[in-house]
Amino acid sequence: MSWTPQTAAPATAPGDGDLPLGDVLVADRLVPAQGPDVPCPAAALVAGELSRRGARPVRGALRLPAPPGAGAGEGGAHRSGAEGAVHDGGYTAVVAGSDPPRGLGAARTAAAAPGEKGERAVREAVDSWLAVAGTARTVLLAAPRSFCAGVERAIEVVERVLEQRGSPVYVRKQIVHNTHVVSGLEARGAVFVDELDEVPEGATVVFSAHGVAPQVHRQAAERGLRVVDAACPLVTKVHAEARRFASRGDTVVLIGHDGHEEVEGTLGEAPESTVLVETPEDVAALEVADPDRVAYLTQTTLAVDETAAVVDALRARFPAVRGPASDDICYATTNRQDALDAIAGESDVVLVVGSANSSNSVRLVELAERRGTPAHLVDDTGEIRPEWLAGVYTVGLTAGASAPPGLVEEVITALGGLGPVTVHEREVARETVHFALPSAALRS
Ligand code: SF4
Repeated sequence: MSWTPQTAAPATAPGDGDLPLGDVLVADRLVPAQGPDVPCPAAALVAGELSRRGARPVRGALRLPAPPGAGAGEGGAHRSGAEGAVHDGGYTAVVAGSDPPRGLGAARTAAAAPGEKGERAVREAVDSWLAVAGTARTVLLAAPRSFCAGVERAIEVVERVLEQRGSPVYVRKQIVHNTHVVSGLEARGAVFVDELDEVPEGATVVFSAHGVAPQVHRQAAERGLRVVDAACPLVTKVHAEARRFASRGDTVVLIGHDGHEEVEGTLGEAPESTVLVETPEDVAALEVADPDRVAYLTQTTLAVDETAAVVDALRARFPAVRGPASDDICYATTNRQDALDAIAGESDVVLVVGSANSSNSVRLVELAERRGTPAHLVDDTGEIRPEWLAGVYTVGLTAGASAPPGLVEEVITALGGLGPVTVHEREVARETVHFALPSAALRS
């Protein structure tokens, strides 16, 4: 598909005269002089690229007057079926030809003179997306993806406590590892703290889905805090196993990632008896009091295949090793990995929606890479980079267990602004798991 640049008179966007110097209006809707408005589904992609180039994008509608000489009904630069870029001193606009017409994206600098940094950023940002637009793509959508039962429960706990007790409600650590979830709850009155000494005595504090060590519960009691524990029941199950193994005199080998909050909580159940390993090499270096009294547990969000290699190493070194009655890697982690495994090989690139500190999201990226497909973790649509889509016809798409489903929809919508998109969902399992709320969250 070819793209023919067109020229037009300078745009006058409603309100864009009020833009502070240096801000860039990124249009999520073009308002032509005549004819219907043109949506710009890819606006988030353009805005993200502008941010990376140091500009300050703000989203809004951009009014485009008819170019000089445009006939009545032609709708200026973006009449139906037109393709091209509109360049002028202060702005760049691109419109994808389609029926109905869609804008790829459009941007206008505020009071930026030609040649200024802001205007260059606008042109470069829009052109970088233009370079990968116009290609028909397939999105292979992994299912299950996004929120699991433990995450939904933890978020609902905070929402319930906010409703019942009002703001502020303190939450120790991120309730789940997702920046959008955290900022959304912050906007509603949740206050996220790292440690309990930041919580006023007598206040209400919610513990995160990742679970806490018994020591944290003791600290809360000493400070007279009202605790609502949103730990996922599947993490609580691992804590109970740690206590059970340790109480019968086993060395408990916890397979997990050093420093992760869930691991810190599980280690705290029996700190004298528990050792942490991450790899088969760690197992080889283990020293235990009695090789016949060894048990293992795992973090809930590990890679299934990598963990199997560590368990194999444990069994080879300690033939009498005991494990949990059922897998500690939870159903949601396993299902999301299986679902991605089903599409990774057919994808030219894999996008995983999730935050960088989300263990199960990072594992999904690593899994796709082990299958030989380039993969990228994005917090949202704005973090997708145009170069990732160069020469790409099939995009594998999934989301970690802590990423809101709406963010995945936004990615699909934005990709549709680059050209026609066909979505195929591949479901490998149907999830029906639901966890009841803790009783402390139900009390008013
Ligand atoms: S990923 Fe698994 S362990 Fe973690 S909150 Fe979800 S269901 Fe619970």
